[in-house]
Amino acid sequence: MDIASTISKTYVVEHLDPELEAWSALEYKTIAEECHNANSRFLLSSVPPSLQLPHDLVSVQGFSSGHESVEISFAEKKDRVCLLDPAAQEELSPDDALKFDVFLFGGILGDDPPRDRTSELRKKGFEGRRLGPIQMTTDTAVRVTRMIIQNQTLLEGIPYVDLPELKLDKHESIQMPFRYVKDGQGRPLMPEGMLDLIKQDADKGLDGLL
Ligand code: SAM
Repeated sequence: MDIASTISKTYVVEHLDPELEAWSALEYKTIAEECHNANSRFLLSSVPPSLQLPHDLVSVQGFSSGHESVEISFAEKKDRVCLLDPAAQEELSPDDALKFDVFLFGGILGDDPPRDRTSELRKKGFEGRRLGPIQMTTDTAVRVTRMIIQNQTLLEGIPYVDLPELKLDKHESIQMPFRYVKDGQGRPLMPEGMLDLIKQDADKGLDGLL
């Protein structure tokens, strides 16, 4: 039996935006599917009651959501919650699997330069860990955390693609300001449908959508 099938954890994304952008919905869908396949739980917390989540998100196996914020739902076991925080002093390591049961992420689209919106969760007092110096998309951050915690892989042993240049058409390309996990073909691992969304949004200008 491999170790990934014996470690089960909870991954919580605290939704920090009033709306749900199509990009975030795709990321959350992918996170839920991957956590389910890895024998773990995914919770999207702090969803505003006024926000109607799309059917193709809520119907994904492994998806669960709640209106409560993480500091309420996990108040009893706050010291077992780890905030993945780009500004943390310590990097996440496989040994953290013993220290934490819950891994918490900011449900925000990345921005360039990063605006440090993870600080909204940091000020709630959770212990933080970093995943290296480069900003990842939320689904990448959850994927890398799962690889470190459940597969017991070292952060520096994971293959990455940094700031990839994506071809939009014959003439145009765009540079994504993020670190991704590298797939078997050497390409950045992204949610299915993300490239089409990036192409659609490129016409409108990507500012504020990342
Ligand atoms: N620019 C962002 C900010 O304002 O903090 C980073 C947002 S990132 C797209 C979404 C979430 O992924 C972060 O809140 C954090 O939980 C996690 N994350 C991304 N890159 C990370 C890193 N290098 N180290 C730790 N956590 C990271």
